[in-house]
Amino acid sequence: MKVMLIAHTPEPEKIIATAAKLCYSSSDIGSLKDGLTEEKTAEFVNMLASIGHESVMEHVSFTFGIEGISRACSHQLVRHRIASYSQKSQRYVNEDGFDFITPPEIEAVPEAKAEFDRTMEVLVESYHKIAEMLTEKHTADFIAQGQDEKTAARNARKKANEDARFVLPNACETKIVVTMNVRSLFNFFEHRCCNRAQWEIKAVADEMLRLCREVAPNVFKNAGPSCVKEGKCPEGKMTCGKFAEVREKYKVL
Ligand SMILES: Cc1cc2nc3c(=O)[nH]c(=O)nc-3n(C[C@H](O)[C@H](O)[C@H](O)COP(=O)(O)OP(=O)(O)OC[C@H]3O[C@@H](n4cnc5c(N)ncnc54)[C@H](O)[C@@H]3O)c2cc1C
Repeated sequence: MKVMLIAHTPEPEKIIATAAKLCYSSSDIGSLKDGLTEEKTAEFVNMLASIGHESVMEHVSFTFGIEGISRACSHQLVRHRIASYSQKSQRYVNEDGFDFITPPEIEAVPEAKAEFDRTMEVLVESYHKIAEMLTEKHTADFIAQGQDEKTAARNARKKANEDARFVLPNACETKIVVTMNVRSLFNFFEHRCCNRAQWEIKAVADEMLRLCREVAPNVFKNAGPSCVKEGKCPEGKMTCGKFAEVREKYKVL
């Protein structure tokens, strides 16, 4: 798994402090940034966190590139609607010999790993065979419709991918670019850094939070699972019960 911070709003903490200053002072736009030293900016950001004024955090966005994750993981990621996504297409990109993610718990049990690998082998082969069969059929159809051979073959392969992908598993490797604003990231971290989240998306979320903290330490100082951010666990009976341990982990991440 690889998580890269591709870009972020420049001077993220200053932008947040600037937006907040507009709310709480009579400064005009031209002078809003005046006096916003590093110290003052940090003070503003900490004050905003303490009063829960999160709307000003929406002015700052972070864009990540993520690869080497499963489709099971990306499906969980894209459930977060307050974000923008671009994902490797299984229509336009040929998945012949596709890569797949093996969960560590399967890796650790030799019989399960053998069964898993055998299943992946079958699926790789099935995908290839179905794509070939459909390509042949679609090529003939396109030629009958008047396309030249080269164009027909290219279009047929794309059309074949659309249906052959139905045999691809949740384990199939994918790549995705995601942009979220800080407020949405807070919500994402609350849900996905939680011990109740699945291991793969939790690892993605932890790395995203680590990268965010490098760039905007004051903004993300208290970000993390709900028990860290809000001081209490919302999971009720399903709580992991490891509040102290989790708190320690997210202090230093
Ligand atoms: C441990 C865990 C288990 C899960 N299990 C399941 C499961 O079994 N089945 C399942 O379907 N999902 C499951 N989910 C996904 C979960 O229900 C959310 O869809 C996902 O976490 C996205 O959260 P969100 O809606 O807060 O994020 P976003 O979509 O980014 O929304 C952010 C916030 O904006 C507001 N918002 C967004 N859209 C609307 C809207 N249409 N109306 C009103 N307010 C809105 C809400 O306040 C929301 O919290 C699970 C998530 C976790 C962390």
